Amino acid sequence: MDAKYSGRFAPSPTGPLHLGSLITAVASYLDARASGGSWRLRIDDIDPPRHDQTSFESIPSCLQAHGLTWDGDVIRQSLRRSTHDQYLKELEHQGLTFTCVCTRTSLGSLGQCEADCSSRRHRTGSIRFKVPDNLPNTLDDLILGSRVTPRLPANFVIRRRDGLIAYQLATAVDDLDELYTHVIRGADLLESGYRQMAIQSALGRQSPRYGHIPILYDQQGNKLSKQTGAAPVDIQTPDQNLKFALRFLNQSTALSDTSSVRDILEHAIDHWNPKAIAPPGV
Ligand SMILES: [Zn+2]
Repeated sequence: MDAKYSGRFAPSPTGPLHLGSLITAVASYLDARASGGSWRLRIDDIDPPRHDQTSFESIPSCLQAHGLTWDGDVIRQSLRRSTHDQYLKELEHQGLTFTCVCTRTSLGSLGQCEADCSSRRHRTGSIRFKVPDNLPNTLDDLILGSRVTPRLPANFVIRRRDGLIAYQLATAVDDLDELYTHVIRGADLLESGYRQMAIQSALGRQSPRYGHIPILYDQQGNKLSKQTGAAPVDIQTPDQNLKFALRFLNQSTALSDTSSVRDILEHAIDHWNPKAIAPPGV
């Protein structure tokens, strides 16, 4: 029998949630609750220069306004540095890392480094993960179905030149260490899945099941994000926002206009159908 379902929503604190990120939260929440599982909130705050301090409060309160209550305390990824370092050491001991002194210019457009850029003289630089040759190029996605990546990742940075742990390592490690069985997130992270599975496999551990949901684009065809000026979710209209998210996810919203947030979520949990989210071929 499978381990009990354990899922999470892990936004970066780069600003208030916009509709795209709310949709991800709704999908991961419903998938967890419909499976009788737990759902955690982890703030992925490992990149301080990009942080917007107000989002440490606005993200949890936005989720609460939408009835998306999480289990346990909010996890802050930045407080887990010692765990990240411990796993980084484990990868180093296995000879799966190297120091890279390449600059953006010297790397060129593909950003590839083949481990011959540095010598023992170099003590500073980023640390890259040596991607094994036999990395599987398929990912059995819970929502998108079986996916084959056109290009496996090149050796990628796991500790940045400025000493910060890179997103790929922190997320791969935390998802293992916090024992999630399922990770539901936006399809813009699909390619990251191959990197994170590579790290998890190198650590000798089984990856969570991944499910990537389609991205919400604005009228100009840009993914909603703070950078493209996406508006914050209006927490005065949580019922309408939830219905919008459910329609986007092709879920049943057969409820009256006056339904409460709680009614909408209960109906959505009862009728949750992840197979309806993305038709084959998306
Ligand atoms: Zn290099």
